[in-house]
Amino acid sequence: MAKINQNYNKLPKTYLFSEIARRAKTFSEKNPEVELLKLGIGNTTLPLTPSVLEALHRGVDKLADVKTYTGYGDEQGNTSLRKAVAAWYSKRGIELEPTEVFISDGAKPDSANITSIFADNSVIAITDPVYPVYQDSNIVAGKKVVLMDCTKENGFIPHVPKEKVDVIFLCSPNNPTGAVATKAQLKTFVDYAIENKAVIVFDAAYSEYISDPELPRSIYEIENANKCAVEIQSLSKMAGFTGVRIGWTIVPKDLVIEGTEPGEVNALWNRRQTTMFNGASNIVQEGAIAVLSEQGQKESRELINYYMANAKIIKEAMEDLGLKVFGGENAPYIWVKTPSDLSSWDFFDKLLNECHVISTPGAGFGSKGEGYIRLSAFGQRENIEKAVKSIKKNLKI
Ligand SMILES: *Cc1c(COP(=O)(O)O)cnc(C)c1O
Repeated sequence: MAKINQNYNKLPKTYLFSEIARRAKTFSEKNPEVELLKLGIGNTTLPLTPSVLEALHRGVDKLADVKTYTGYGDEQGNTSLRKAVAAWYSKRGIELEPTEVFISDGAKPDSANITSIFADNSVIAITDPVYPVYQDSNIVAGKKVVLMDCTKENGFIPHVPKEKVDVIFLCSPNNPTGAVATKAQLKTFVDYAIENKAVIVFDAAYSEYISDPELPRSIYEIENANKCAVEIQSLSKMAGFTGVRIGWTIVPKDLVIEGTEPGEVNALWNRRQTTMFNGASNIVQEGAIAVLSEQGQKESRELINYYMANAKIIKEAMEDLGLKVFGGENAPYIWVKTPSDLSSWDFFDKLLNECHVISTPGAGFGSKGEGYIRLSAFGQRENIEKAVKSIKKNLKI
């Protein structure tokens, strides 16, 4: 008799986005004439840039001609793109072999899939609050999950775990808090990982939102990280590929886990991908090469500058109101302490009812997110301005 994987029953009830939608709907039914202003979405809104569009069109055209048509490509990604990724890292002083780069259909699936290479009895450390997939994928896999608290006292960058753990998930710049780890902070994790033979899974999806040259955009800026860390990247937030879908995972040959020789973990991920994945879209891979080119990077920078100007507008407005605000400087998320110690959901309701603004309650990302809301810089400027104006005019604090 078929039985379900009981671990699914252990998942925290993820009602965050459905509950936001439900409350927004209830409000709109009572107030049909009111326009709701969204500061809650973690999704890109600007169109793709010219050189990327041209490459995507070229990718489609290649499929129209028998002489240039391609079917399945390499599961790990086309060599030209793997080389382009390695060259992109090289420009920032990080040397990788193209065979250490595994192209995928995005960072979220990779961060869930990576758990398959670790033993069932592994202890996994994640942050609280957290981007939910790190937690849920490990619970489904039956692994033991421990929490690293992120609070205003530690600037929302966790301390290394007190106990011995095997795998540590880190995300910097962070979703949802907008916090960015310094090199010194990341070094404490690399040192911990080397000492405890642990592995860091580093999600760098927002690296390009960093403008402060002192802040690390890759875990490999830290010495010895190549021996203990995999890095997951994505063009979703870098270049508006949220719906287009492409990312990559770096598994260095120098990375060793207990009982393996250098190269074996890289070979293991290669085995996982060749067995269970059939490669990213060949059209999209053309687009990805364009994103990583000099022109593509220039164009991406403009998208990011636009979102970060939104972030500045939101952050300054919240500060003007006297609210305590974090993030929003090298990350597109603004993490706002609720006034008068309101709960996340009570402040959400206040913003909805008084200002007609949709936010994201921090409690939805973990218990340490209670007492905060996340505001997002993704959106059209005029909508952001309307939302901010409405908060400044109507919020009663
Ligand atoms: C948006 C986001 C990603 C991107 O995931 P994709 O699957 O590549 O779209 C990865 N990590 C975090 C923390 C994110 O917020």
